[in-house]
Amino acid sequence: MILDYVRRLLIVFLLALCVSIMFFTGKIAKAEMNEIAEETVSWTFPVEGVITDSYGTRSGTHKGMDIGGDIGSPVYSVAKGKVTKSYLSKSYGHVVFIRHENGYETVYAHLENRLVEENQKVVQGEQLGSLGNTGRSTGAHLHFEVHRGEWTIDKVNAIDPYMVFGQGEVGQLVFAHEKDPFQAVGVSGTPEMTQDVSSGELDQSNERKVNHIVHKGETLWGISQQYNISVEDIKSANGLNDTNLVVNQSLAIPQSAAGSKYVVKQGDTLYSISVAQGIDVNELVAWNGLDLKTPIYPQQVLKLQ
Ligand SMILES: [Zn+2]
Repeated sequence: MILDYVRRLLIVFLLALCVSIMFFTGKIAKAEMNEIAEETVSWTFPVEGVITDSYGTRSGTHKGMDIGGDIGSPVYSVAKGKVTKSYLSKSYGHVVFIRHENGYETVYAHLENRLVEENQKVVQGEQLGSLGNTGRSTGAHLHFEVHRGEWTIDKVNAIDPYMVFGQGEVGQLVFAHEKDPFQAVGVSGTPEMTQDVSSGELDQSNERKVNHIVHKGETLWGISQQYNISVEDIKSANGLNDTNLVVNQSLAIPQSAAGSKYVVKQGDTLYSISVAQGIDVNELVAWNGLDLKTPIYPQQVLKLQ
């Protein structure tokens, strides 16, 4: 009889324990998220591009987020800090590690180049290098990691960057230097829908102008490279005050500004470009401050005069 009573008590106790564990772990997770949000409240986003992969994918082994973008796009420090590592890694490629004052460490990988050295102090928004495709990488993107504490080889301190910058999703445009890089999407008003005009088709009028319909994931920078003109030229031709675009937005691309530049395609060499453009290869390298051994890369813009 007493044994039965004890057993019942034990069951009640165990049930209560389970419920309280569920309750507290939920609380702890929530509290931790709030703490992280507080500790990183001033951070700004490192690069402009499109989210191509998020934290925790690849069976949990992907300990960062990927932002696809244009090779050469500036990559900025999310906050003030000190460069703990800046080197060429087999897996990370050209990579920069920043230690922040709150003890966090951030990692910027697969860079095209690095502009900072170890032990150098950086301010928030300072350029660390350019977006690239170096190391174990299968396309131009920034692999970005946040560690709440030191970076370690097993990445135990890694946290989801969405906890810092808010919940995003793959395919979404993100903006550099923004506190909330996701919110910038869709703020530039009602898109002007045009009929029967597809990307790159010539305008009906006699003006030397091409209409470009903005597709998901495109940036003003990317479009400017596609048409060999500057971001400023596109902005002034369309009366844009900022670089925010919306999907299906129609952009007038002035053609007068183009023609004196060349955007490098996959497989190009300095020689193949000079032959195709009917110019001397020595002049081509001189105009661009290169030499014949300088590597060129897709999306790089070369001057042709
Ligand atoms: Zn990655």
